[in-house]
Amino acid sequence: MSNLEREPWEATCGGLTDVAAEPVSRLLEGHDVALGGPRAMKVTRTLPNREIRMVGAWCFADYYGPEKATMRVPPHPHTGLQTVSWLVEGEVLHRDCLGSEQLVKPGQLNLMTAGRGISHSEHSPRDAVLHGVQLWVALPSAHRQVAPHFEHHPVLPSLAGPGFRATVLMGELGGVVSPAQTYTPLVGAEVTLDAGAETRIPLQPGFEYAALSLSGTARAEKIVLDPGPLLYLGCGRSELLLRAERPARLLLLGGEPFEERIVMWWNFIGRSHEEIVAFRQEWMAGDTFGTVPGTDDAPLPAPALPSVPLKSRGRRR
Ligand code: MN
Repeated sequence: MSNLEREPWEATCGGLTDVAAEPVSRLLEGHDVALGGPRAMKVTRTLPNREIRMVGAWCFADYYGPEKATMRVPPHPHTGLQTVSWLVEGEVLHRDCLGSEQLVKPGQLNLMTAGRGISHSEHSPRDAVLHGVQLWVALPSAHRQVAPHFEHHPVLPSLAGPGFRATVLMGELGGVVSPAQTYTPLVGAEVTLDAGAETRIPLQPGFEYAALSLSGTARAEKIVLDPGPLLYLGCGRSELLLRAERPARLLLLGGEPFEERIVMWWNFIGRSHEEIVAFRQEWMAGDTFGTVPGTDDAPLPAPALPSVPLKSRGRRR
């Protein structure tokens, strides 16, 4: 998906100042964002958050649905990140300038590595139920100029125990490794809990973690988790206690704290405001991000850059 906000803020993220070195349990409310036009989809954005900008390299998290909606995101660019598309219900067709055309369904992963630059579009069937998440992973400087590429993983590995199953989308959990390409040590996993489940999920003390509910109510370290907010868990944990009275589905995100400072604006990640300005100019000039075959939609114009010096805006989200 795209960040379709009309006046996106430029956010400086990363660095270790926000990272809790010890276990914490902080419930972070998301904010609602309307994506696109009169038939807008509503999403709840929990990353970046005013308090916590990133969780490992995870730097963007939109949760949506379940609701009847139509996703129609025209061609738009990305730089310096990976987009991770994960559905609970519905289907979305991805097309990109490399010629990829791939439907993603629940339980499958669409992973697009923008690297130095890519453009793509996303469409869902008209007025069908949509329910899922759109996540971004920031690329470290050593790999952010990588050639853009697209991966579809229809089958992913999982680990299971009494009352739970964890599908590993990205990275590693409990020794189970996703085949998806990653560039920093991290994990993204969907954990389904049976009714009455009480389980401990293995974690790495050097990672920071967060969890959100995709459906149902669960308790993570005794904190009640319903769809909407993100529970930030900090670092220093070797396991996570999960309980559910009724079936529930959680998303677990984690990773090594991302030390580099990054600058995010609209659909770009760079390292400076000047670089973001250059990305925007390249996209509007229409010559370096390719064209997306198979869609009649006109490319999405970039919003205007903020006119006020960015640093004076302080830590707005
Ligand atoms: Mn996108």
